[in-house]
Amino acid sequence: MVDSAEGGCLVAHPDFSQINTWVFDLDNTLYNPEHSFEHEQIELYVNYLARKGDTEPKVVRKRLEELSKTHFDPMARYVQLGYPFDINEWVQEAISVDYSRLPKCDRTAELIEKLPGKKYIFTNHLAQHAERVLQQLHLDHLFDGISDNVSRDYINKPESKVYTDLVQEFNFEPTKAVFVEDSPENLQPAFTMGMKTVLVHRTDIHEAEFIEHQYPTLLEFLEDVA
Ligand SMILES: [Mg+2]
Repeated sequence: MVDSAEGGCLVAHPDFSQINTWVFDLDNTLYNPEHSFEHEQIELYVNYLARKGDTEPKVVRKRLEELSKTHFDPMARYVQLGYPFDINEWVQEAISVDYSRLPKCDRTAELIEKLPGKKYIFTNHLAQHAERVLQQLHLDHLFDGISDNVSRDYINKPESKVYTDLVQEFNFEPTKAVFVEDSPENLQPAFTMGMKTVLVHRTDIHEAEFIEHQYPTLLEFLEDVA
């Protein structure tokens, strides 16, 4: 791989020979953002919260809008504030989306399987959603664990606490780990802890100290480290 942004790499061919832990974000990282569930699941979430709280979707939207001014993750904050919510009901709503839209990629699966060491999913979404995404992509047999936002009491990336909890839960050495994400801000705490950081699936180039590598697609990253 050439040493240029045009070549798909912000720095020279990465040396990941010391890496024994591979941490992946889920949504828009393991699949192309053109298949994103985000818009659809936000609509489901707003409508569910409105029904549950016996109010109008516009009221929920307004509250979320207000929370977004002070909180990075207004949807998680909404639940933390104690508005009517039942996780089991929400799981059923969230996973009612059509997962068949995700195209599986045999080469991606083959390359993830070959990565030496442990592999984890680190998502702000639900484990049940992650499991369905992984099943649809035929990647479900390749990961050693999932950290989801319910297991973290709805505390999400990029709060630094969830990164230290992740390291503790899966018991790995951050300086021997790589974190792959599509949200640049989520890479900063990982970088601070000594993890190698990789940004994928962004058409815009991000130049920041905490973004060590950037690739147009996950597959190009995997091909480069293979
Ligand atoms: Mg993502």
